[in-house]
Amino acid sequence: MVSGKSTNPLDAFAGGPEMKIRGQTVIDAYQRIYQNIEKKGNGCWDWTGAIRSPNKPYGRLTIGSRADGSRRQIGAHQFSYMTFVGPIPDGMAVCHHCDNPRCVNPTHLFLGTWKDNADDRDRKGRNKAPPTYTGESAPWTKLTDSQIEEIKLSQLSSREAAKKYGVHDSYIRQLRRGVRRIPEAPAKQDGGHD
Ligand SMILES: [Zn+2]
Repeated sequence: MVSGKSTNPLDAFAGGPEMKIRGQTVIDAYQRIYQNIEKKGNGCWDWTGAIRSPNKPYGRLTIGSRADGSRRQIGAHQFSYMTFVGPIPDGMAVCHHCDNPRCVNPTHLFLGTWKDNADDRDRKGRNKAPPTYTGESAPWTKLTDSQIEEIKLSQLSSREAAKKYGVHDSYIRQLRRGVRRIPEAPAKQDGGHD
């Protein structure tokens, strides 16, 4: 997908001009990027700084100056594009060839319209509803599925089991009545749709 003759894209960009905002040198933009990336075997430059949110793990950083009101948050991939490639025209989005939101490798980035970006995202299945957690995959769960099976089969009283597993005895009773714990959903057959 990504073509490029340079084996180390960093070399091609080394020692470039500094980021200028309204004629003022604010910071060496290249350094700002290099210090916040982890180069992956697949060529991606994963942003190691702040991200927008766990669901949208795009890197983000603050640019501009408070003094002149130009201070704002920007996506790290957008910042990288502006630094290494050029300005982002109004109404255009910076998209990923590599489908890795964290990636800020300029050779993995391309300009598209926001609609392209949304279509691309839909095609890659990144715009799906958030996952529904069931069974032990739920991040808040205390017990594994096998512990729950143990509890259901165990001869311990609810109170004894509660003590043993570190949960409330009403929860044990609910488990045994089958009220609690949504069973694990069957694995979805949702491979790539090409
Ligand atoms: Zn990448």
